[in-house]
Formats: sequence, C-alpha cells, structure tokens
Amino acid sequence: MMASNTITVYLLLGTNVGDRLSLLEQAVAYIGKEAGKILNTSAVYETAAWGNENQPDYLNQVLCVKTSLPPQQLLEKINAIEASLGRQRKTKWEPRPMDIDILLYGDQVIQTARLQVPHPLLPDRRFALVPLREIAPDLRHPVLHLTITDLLKNTSDPLTVKLHKTATK
Ligand code: ATP
Ligand code: CA
Ligand code: CA
Repeated sequence: MMASNTITVYLLLGTNVGDRLSLLEQAVAYIGKEAGKILNTSAVYETAAWGNENQPDYLNQVLCVKTSLPPQQLLEKINAIEASLGRQRKTKWEPRPMDIDILLYGDQVIQTARLQVPHPLLPDRRFALVPLREIAPDLRHPVLHLTITDLLKNTSDPLTVKLHKTATK
C-alpha cells in the first residue's frame, strides 16, 4: 500500500541509443513498479541532441508520478533503472539508452551536490517543456513562479520538438 505522505513528481525520460520506443516503455514499467504510481504520461517527442550535437536524435517523454520515496531515494531508484536499461556513465551528454531526470518534486526546492530540483536546465530545454506542458500546462515553477506554458513561451532553445507518438491513455 502507498504511504500517505506521497508527493507528485515529474520525471523526464530521454533515450537516443537502441530501440528507443521499447526502452521508454520498459522505463515506464520499471518506474510504475519501483518508484510510484504513474498518474499521467505525455506523448513521445523527438528532438535533436541538446548541448552535444554530434549524436543521434532523442526521444523524450514526461511522466507524472505519485511517489512515497524521498528525493534522494527517488534519484537512487531512477539511477538503478537507467543502469538496468544499459546505461553506462562515461562522459557528460554522451549518447545513452536511458536518462531519467527529476524535473520537479512537488514544489520543493533542493540544492545539494547530488541533486538540484527543479532541474536547473528546465527553462532552457524545449524537449522537456513541450511534453511537460502537454500534461501540466498551468503548473507553476516553484522558483521562477511562471507556469510551464509561460516558460515555454520564454525559452530561447532553438531546437524543434516533433511529435513522434501520441500518448496511449
Ligand atoms: P543534464 O543535467 O544536463 O540533463 P545529464 O542528465 O546528462 O545532464 P547525468 O550524467 O545523467 O547528467 O547525471 C549527472 C548527475 O546529475 C547525477 O548523478 C545526479 O546526481 C545529478 N542530478 C542533479 N540534479 C538532478 C535531477 N534533478 N535529476 C536527475 N539527476 C540529477
Ligand atoms: Ca538529462
Ligand atoms: Ca540525468
């Protein structure tokens, strides 16, 4: 049974190696089994790689999850799920079968060496904002106090985010 002190979090999945759609499905299944109850899933979007352009395009998806895990334990859980899907960490922004980032953890602001929430690059990433706006347009950023819709209007990210697969709800 889910503990009563649950919190709503938004996770961003990204994959640019292997069978990307299957990897997303596997990540969603793992998260639902091990991290919390999945309340909503965005469609899947495709975007050129951000920050390190010389690599394959990414598929991204945002999940809304109700979890009873505290932030650090949630991070450990998603890191373990990345590893089970073949992730190996070598250099920054390298191609990977699965990357899972915590975009928002309720309205908590976390600033530790291992974890920064809200994800500091959220306002600069159309590939995170577009799927997040699909499922939470009016959600307010707890530091910037803007809605996701407004963050997307304001972003300077030039990369185009294409719909790849509609959400199956
Ligand atoms: P970016 O942060 O630019 O998206 P990345 O996802 O490629 O980069 P990783 O190599 O996956 O970076 O993660 C590096 C470290 O980032 C993780 O080990 C984790 O401790 C830390 N981290 C800090 N904040 C977060 C967050 N909100 N979600 C996930 N990881 C985070
Ligand atoms: Ca990331
Ligand atoms: Ca990451």
